[in-house]
Formats: sequence, structure tokens, C-alpha cells
Amino acid sequence: MDKTEILKQYLPDAAAPVIAKWIDYFQCEFKVSRNRGTKFGDYRSPFDGKGHRISVNYNLNAYAFLVTTVHEFAHLYTWDQHQHKAKPHGTEWKSNFKRMMKPFFDLEIFPPDIKRAISNYLDNPAASSCSDLTLFRALKNYDVKEALVISVEKIPANGLFKWKDGRVFRREELLRKRYRCVEVSTNRVYLFNPVAEVELVKAS
Ligand SMILES: [Zn+2]
Repeated sequence: MDKTEILKQYLPDAAAPVIAKWIDYFQCEFKVSRNRGTKFGDYRSPFDGKGHRISVNYNLNAYAFLVTTVHEFAHLYTWDQHQHKAKPHGTEWKSNFKRMMKPFFDLEIFPPDIKRAISNYLDNPAASSCSDLTLFRALKNYDVKEALVISVEKIPANGLFKWKDGRVFRREELLRKRYRCVEVSTNRVYLFNPVAEVELVKAS
């Protein structure tokens, strides 16, 4: 399978081709890893004949997977520029992370709450580890809880469902062959195939 297609299983669709390009451009060995309780991702600089290596936990939701991937690529790029002269989460890393996050902001991949959490994170000079708590709490809201997968046509009218990237939609009427659905956080209208598999969201 093509690299982009594989990455789409973990990342928001629009982000996959960008990350695939980075993997090639930086000649990075990119691995989807088992869950490591203590960290979401990992970067290793070239050593002993091996090139750049990045691994990201498989069980992160698409947004958390993307943020972690960009975080690690910012380590890679900072290494290329400065090697040992830059601190792991110092000013060089921060400015690279900010720069490398930009294409995904431009693609409007993130829902508003995550966008806000990332912007705060980028402006907060105290953030010093690979996992900022406020940011990851915002990302965690998009984890799948008690997943109940059904097709769009089985969602009751005006019922809520979650798409695989975590965005929540309200199912409205059938227009010709597709359902009109409204993304709750943006009020944007999307058309869904009746048999698309989604996750039912229980009204709170
Ligand atoms: Zn880090």
C-alpha cells in the first residue's frame, strides 16, 4: 500500500500526504509503535550508521497523532540545523514546531478547541516536555469513547455522530442520495453517504 494511504489510517486525511512528503524529504525511518504509557512519540537522531528515526504510538486519535508527529519532526529538523547545540525543547525547536504546524493550520485540519490549545502551547515558553497537559487534554476529548459504530442512515434524524477524525456532526435530511449533516462546532454542511460508518454520540 502507498505510504499516504497507510498514514491515513492514523492521521486526518488531508495531513497524510504532507507527512508522507516529510518522511521522504528528511529520509526518516517512520514507525507506528505500540502504546508506550510514558510517551506518545519519540525522535532519535542519526547514530551508528542509522538515519533519523521517529516513532508515534498507534493508539492516539488522529489529531493527537498529527500533533505528536509534527512535534517529533520539529526535533528532527532542529537536529539537522543545530545538532547538540540546541536544547530539546528550546527556542530553536519551538520556532520549528510553529513553522511545521503551519501547513496543517492552513489546511484547516483542526477543530477550534484544538487550534486554540495548540496556539497557547506555542506561545507558552514554560512548556518543556514532549506532552503538554492542557494540549493533550484538549486532544483527548477526541478519543473514541464506548464506540458504537453504525451507518449514517441508522442515526436518528437530528442525532449526533462522530466521524473518524473526531469531528461531531448532526444528521439532517436525505438530499437525493446523501444525508445533509452539519458539523456541530463550525455549522458547516457536509453530505454523507448513507452507508458511511460513523460512531453514534449519545445525547448528554
Ligand atoms: Zn519532544
